[in-house]
Amino acid sequence: MEPTTQSTQPEKKHFTPRPAGTGAAKPKRSFAGSRRPHDRQRRPAWPKADMADGFNEAPSERKTAHIPDPEPGTIRIIPLGGVEEIGKNMTAIEIGDDIIVIDAGMFFSNENTPGIDYVIPNTRYLEERKDKIRGLVITHGHLDHIGGVPIVLSRIGNPTVYSRNLTLLLTQKRQAEFPHLPRMNSVVVEKDQVITLGKLRIRFWGVTHTIPDSMGIIIETPYGDIVTPGDYKLDQIDGVVSESEEKEYKFFDTSNTLLLMTDSTNIENEGFSLAESKVHIGLENIIRRITGRIIIAAFASHITRLMKIVQIAEMLDKKIVIEGRSMKTNLDVIVQAGLMKPKKDTVIPIEDMDKYPPHKVIILSTGGQGEPFSALNRAAMKTNKKFALKKGDTIILSASIVPGNERQVQAMKDGLSRQGVKIISYRTPGEDFVHATGHGNKEDIKWLHRKIHEKFFIPIHGNHYHLELHKELAMEIGIPESNIVVPDNGSIIEITDNGTKIGVRKEKAPASPMMVDGFSVGDEQNVVIRDRQMLAEDGMFVVVALLDARTGLLKKSPDIISRGFVYLKESQELVRHARGLIKRTIEQETKGQAQPNIDQIKNIVADTVSKYLFQQTAKRPLVLPVILSA
Ligand SMILES: [Zn+2]
Ligand SMILES: [Zn+2]
Repeated sequence: MEPTTQSTQPEKKHFTPRPAGTGAAKPKRSFAGSRRPHDRQRRPAWPKADMADGFNEAPSERKTAHIPDPEPGTIRIIPLGGVEEIGKNMTAIEIGDDIIVIDAGMFFSNENTPGIDYVIPNTRYLEERKDKIRGLVITHGHLDHIGGVPIVLSRIGNPTVYSRNLTLLLTQKRQAEFPHLPRMNSVVVEKDQVITLGKLRIRFWGVTHTIPDSMGIIIETPYGDIVTPGDYKLDQIDGVVSESEEKEYKFFDTSNTLLLMTDSTNIENEGFSLAESKVHIGLENIIRRITGRIIIAAFASHITRLMKIVQIAEMLDKKIVIEGRSMKTNLDVIVQAGLMKPKKDTVIPIEDMDKYPPHKVIILSTGGQGEPFSALNRAAMKTNKKFALKKGDTIILSASIVPGNERQVQAMKDGLSRQGVKIISYRTPGEDFVHATGHGNKEDIKWLHRKIHEKFFIPIHGNHYHLELHKELAMEIGIPESNIVVPDNGSIIEITDNGTKIGVRKEKAPASPMMVDGFSVGDEQNVVIRDRQMLAEDGMFVVVALLDARTGLLKKSPDIISRGFVYLKESQELVRHARGLIKRTIEQETKGQAQPNIDQIKNIVADTVSKYLFQQTAKRPLVLPVILSA
């Protein structure tokens, strides 16, 4: 086996000079004229499964060696992701020799992680306890629960994945995007099945969410059950929970729940969440009423609704055009899972659309968030070659706006309305319902607590603020404060004393988010991110100096290259002074030295130039000194 740590410490493989840092920059000639501080070709390939076990070496190498194994009879719970954010959900349950991992999600990069593809939970604790992991159990097929699966599996010893059919199909699609990684081993379970992993018996129940085959997980322990429903809302209308839903939860009427961990996403929303069935009625009403062409933008992940829209189209004898890769993929998966079988000619290719009168066509598209490259946004900006909007079209935005996307959604709506189309969003007053959340609101949440009547409670899925609100609500309905733990990512929570006490250990499992950036994965990429933020804000300033090793003098005036900092042609004075400063700084350092220390000189140059540029411009570009000695 190759001894390698590249998958866990990719940072060391990168060329990441610091302005006043450790002088890690090697004077590579090819770099001098390069715009990119990172050489993408030199990235390590995908970590193979067996490459990630650099931690099974000497115990001193283990980053979690200070965390003792749980005492016999102790139940350990570690939320590794999803409790300081909405997204990248993952929780580990450790009892005796067995660890069960629940979900392995991701979230997409945001303005705090420029250039990063996406972020997954930290796997170090699990990497160092691979031999104890008995399985990864997944609640449902959304990316915040399955998006991290391929990389997480490859790092934790590729344990078997357990979930229901649709969830596993979606997870396999996700896995297929990573052909370099080992194959996923999976076992389909059904919601009324009981399985045994290690010494632990696990059962499931069906929950209502925006995607079929969502399930809750029940892990039996000698002191009662550990229960988590995954994402859920209640199947109810005006607060009356449906019979079939009551049936799913019947198990809890007589069960003994030691610990409940549940979703806090919608803890701020009063009442019950809007029933999806009301949205189905609303969409049907609108589709019946509108006489022109209809374009519906929805989340591809909202599979229940996609199925309903296809069904409505068939009922009203309309054709469906599917736009957007994730929308197409998910529709394929729905068919593959046997959840729906559209008639042969219901779904038509976009090229055939104009063969039908406008009122016979529904375009089902992604892009409800105004994503720049989505079909709908390109249509809004008149750059979509496949279809153009026309007067008489109606756009239904069947989605809420994800926080952070407000501005791009507004820009898209402006573009749409310039083209004389009608827009119906979930906020359009007087309109039928076109969107409902997939997560339970306050009343759904209360109902669930009362139904499951847990002893201990850990709020999950949410930012810290949401978790605190969820704690308040739990106390309101009678759970004592001492029975509730509000966790952080990596908190090590233990139930001890024969299931009578819950507390948090002082040690923490590593929890810094693991950034997936091109082909590298790691939790030590803060330096890279900081560089990108500096580059984005103030650009870069490269200094190339050619040193005569014999005399210690520069062979010529140093070269200066900058990007995104100031316009050099209009800053001749600044450049001239900088050149002089660099020359003086270097020659002062080399004076009287037989073997000048290039790394040290680079640090001093970076420091001096940074200070000078800041004094002159109040900007802090990334300063990269390249000193070649010949
Ligand atoms: Zn979900
Ligand atoms: Zn979720």
